[in-house]
Amino acid sequence: MTAARVLVVGAGLAGLTAADTLHRQGVAVTVLEARDRVGGRTHGVEVAPGSFADAGAAYLGDRHTSLHHLLDRLGLKTTPTTTEGASRFAFPDLTEQSGRFPPLNAVALGDLFDRLDDLTRRVRPEQPWASADAEALDAETAADWAERNLRHPDARRFFPLFLGEMMAADPAAVSVLHMAFYLRSGGGLNYLNAFEGGAQADRVDGGAHQICAHLAAGLDVRLGYQVEAIHADGDRVVVNGDESADAVIVAIPPLLADAIDFRPGLPERRSGTRTAPGSAVKVHLVYPAPLWRAHGLSGWSVSERGPLLSTVDDSPADGSVGVLTGFVTGAEAHRYAALPLVTQRAEATEQAAALFPLLPPPIAVHVTDWVTDPYSRGCYAALFGPGDWLRGGPHLTRPHGRVHWAGTETSTEFFGLMEGAIRSGHRAAAEVLTDLTPIDPTPTDRLEGRDERQSDRAA
Ligand SMILES: Cc1cc2nc3c(=O)[nH]c(=O)nc-3n(C[C@H](O)[C@H](O)[C@H](O)COP(=O)(O)OP(=O)(O)OC[C@H]3O[C@@H](n4cnc5c(N)ncnc54)[C@H](O)[C@@H]3O)c2cc1C
Repeated sequence: MTAARVLVVGAGLAGLTAADTLHRQGVAVTVLEARDRVGGRTHGVEVAPGSFADAGAAYLGDRHTSLHHLLDRLGLKTTPTTTEGASRFAFPDLTEQSGRFPPLNAVALGDLFDRLDDLTRRVRPEQPWASADAEALDAETAADWAERNLRHPDARRFFPLFLGEMMAADPAAVSVLHMAFYLRSGGGLNYLNAFEGGAQADRVDGGAHQICAHLAAGLDVRLGYQVEAIHADGDRVVVNGDESADAVIVAIPPLLADAIDFRPGLPERRSGTRTAPGSAVKVHLVYPAPLWRAHGLSGWSVSERGPLLSTVDDSPADGSVGVLTGFVTGAEAHRYAALPLVTQRAEATEQAAALFPLLPPPIAVHVTDWVTDPYSRGCYAALFGPGDWLRGGPHLTRPHGRVHWAGTETSTEFFGLMEGAIRSGHRAAAEVLTDLTPIDPTPTDRLEGRDERQSDRAA
């Protein structure tokens, strides 16, 4: 089509999806990536020669249709998340039973889920800030909500663990509106929380990091390039004073986008004073094989005390090596992230031995700390605190002149997930393609098309 050039900031799933879509439409695209690798919040850690575990995003479900489509296109396969066998729970005594919920009062947990479900249904997923009682829901934190609503001690014990696992959130860090929106956006409580038939049904065989590696292979990607300034200059946009283009897609988390010097300045910041980075550390305990299976165990555990608040069997499909992934989330992730690596490994090994006394010590322990990672600042995703949705929500996807926005935090569908990132990349690419397409200057077009888009431009 045109000789247009587009710059994409960020080589995560969102940025690379956008770049790939534009590239396939004949647009010249360069992706600018701060890290020395692509993939962003998808990342592989080598647990045995040639065998990778997901240090970032791992799980997907059948409703993640854009992700499945992309995997098919790239020739990547999925493998079911292993759930067969009994689970272990430490609340605080060690118990064993089937299923994924701890041996707490079932009525209290049922009541908690009913209340969360009720909140979830009250949110308008495509415009959470326009929900009927958005103001009230955006005014308090999930911790305050729990304090007011959860009477049974078991519901109070379980709630922070649940939010940690679902959103990598400390309840004090998120507004009720964001919690309800997140659960709704991900397909509802039951879907988001389920392995079989749910959002955690499968993993990418060989690791989710391969998706970005495949996408980047066909694109012009510049690694080690941190974008610090994006300035409008007539019909062009200039990045860091040395790269210019017809349009820019910024596909990075909101806390990082706010570190960029935009000229003209943004009408509204991408993050607010209460926006917090999601808090997750992933620990991979490596064994010669998935040894727990021979003991009738699934590898799934939930513990009241950290660091490993839950564990799951993430062994490669061929079982050539055993991998237990431990999740350290919410407030516990902040404590754990501040420890030296040697202490992190010792704590994780000790807890694994307490949960699975029949296992030998792991042959390796890998710790991936996303809490202090300067290029993510929010894992699994940014956490919107009180006031964030009402103030910033309407601006999340609104182009700023020739600057367009992508990233999982700009997607109201599957926000915070790989699926959300991919959908946001498609949306941003479609916006840019529309802007770059020459339009016949018919009166109708002037009224409804180009003129409207141009009046939207601050640049
Ligand atoms: C531990 C963990 C577990 C997760 N589990 C799941 C899961 O099971 N299932 C699921 O679907 N999702 C999961 N997620 C979330 C998923 O990884 C993200 O939603 C998705 O990968 C986000 O993609 P993105 O492209 O929006 O952002 P990112 O992946 O963050 O990409 C942004 C890119 O921009 C780069 N960048 C940042 N600032 C600049 C700058 N100034 N200049 C240039 N480049 C910059 C970054 O280095 C990064 O590469 C998990 C995430 C983590 C960390």
